[in-house]
Amino acid sequence: MTEFEIIMGLEVHVQLLTSTKMFCSCSTTFGSPPNSQVCSICLGLPGTLPVVNKKAVELALKVAHALNCQVAEVTKFDRKNYFYPDLPKGYQISQFDQPILHSGHIMIPTPKEDKKIRITRAHMEEDAGKMIHQEGTPYSFIDLNRVGTPLLEIVSAPDIESPDEAYSYLKELKAILEYLEISDCNMQEGSLRCDVNLSIRPKGQKTMGTRTEIKNLNSFNFVRLAASYEAERQKQVVLRGGKIEQGTYLWDENEQKTKLMRSKEDAHDYRYFPEPDLGSFLISKDLQEKIHSQLPELPRIRSKRMQEEYKISEKDCAFLIEQKVVADYFEACLKKFSEPQELLNWMKGQVRTYLNEHDLAMVDFPIPPKNFIELLELLQKKTINRNAAKEIFEQMAKTGKRAKEFSQQKQKITDENELRQICQEVIKAVPQIAEDCRTNPKAMNALVGQLMKRSKGRADVDIARRIFGELIGE
Ligand SMILES: [Zn+2]
Repeated sequence: MTEFEIIMGLEVHVQLLTSTKMFCSCSTTFGSPPNSQVCSICLGLPGTLPVVNKKAVELALKVAHALNCQVAEVTKFDRKNYFYPDLPKGYQISQFDQPILHSGHIMIPTPKEDKKIRITRAHMEEDAGKMIHQEGTPYSFIDLNRVGTPLLEIVSAPDIESPDEAYSYLKELKAILEYLEISDCNMQEGSLRCDVNLSIRPKGQKTMGTRTEIKNLNSFNFVRLAASYEAERQKQVVLRGGKIEQGTYLWDENEQKTKLMRSKEDAHDYRYFPEPDLGSFLISKDLQEKIHSQLPELPRIRSKRMQEEYKISEKDCAFLIEQKVVADYFEACLKKFSEPQELLNWMKGQVRTYLNEHDLAMVDFPIPPKNFIELLELLQKKTINRNAAKEIFEQMAKTGKRAKEFSQQKQKITDENELRQICQEVIKAVPQIAEDCRTNPKAMNALVGQLMKRSKGRADVDIARRIFGELIGE
């Protein structure tokens, strides 16, 4: 049986975080009423001229160092000619043979070891608009608000050898882009989209197989599913003696399969030529250095530092740094709180559960670090017990109030006499369980459970266990 290997390259389109569009001053705010953010330039009316958004160029340059890319000394824009109903100019301003960045790489984790994925190039371009097809209407709508939004397209070399590696690459890349704050990387809003180029070949063969492209994937999971499906589809075609035809596919989420959108297309089909309304431009060393000096700490470096500084595992660090806001929150707390492991347990436990249950992202987490530390300190000083802390956590999240406003009623009962009285009540209420304790030490847990119920979670468990021991032993 022939064994096949997969070869993939990814093109990631990331929306740059500018307040205005790539070549005009229209706003890029998401969710505004349709066609309210357009002007004669982005509509491509005759007699208008584009002007390059300097901020977009600076954001693209921020990526250079993080992706180990070379910056082009001279760069320019080109026209990519194609017709789309949501692209009123009839062409897209993109970059063809002199992209702003080239020849980079990033490292991705794989089960064996870290692997280098080369970045062939990254170029700037403008986005198209959006077609809206409503079921039951015999026509479609067009919203041109997104036309002209600045994008950076990051193109990897065909170094990716499995759908899982593609997933890792995207995760790593997204973390870097988020740390650089060059994009919000919001996939639901289309700020990060991915095209997959995929071919297969019999193991050992040197020449590449014919590739197909799967376009416009807006979730990392879809990338993994679509790539797995497409690799298997190609394999079946080859095994049946067929030939892979070059083509562009879409992922059909409902049917869980790739579907052919259009057949063969090559770069020369687009008739690229230098954009006559924009000259080529130099990127000064001064600007590059200025941007380089302002770069934040990148995720991999941050992970290493945090592992050493807080003595936490690589796996836990991966959880923290995957989203910059999570790592930022963690470190903000640790400025005034001295137990990283305890804090980590809360972040992985209560905080994560709370966010999942309320379908929230970390940015929307309602308890600010300084309030959260107050809660952990009450626990640290044993003013409240763990159960009470969890209840107070819920109330803080719900009301926005501080821990001390709830802790009064939840303060731990440590008074021996008071505890002894409750313990006696418990034994009286469930004498059989108390009796069992004499022969089965595990039965004590049931007694403690009863005690917590009666004391509304406030009893000091350690003292109560001792008192139970004394009472039952008597
Ligand atoms: Zn405009």
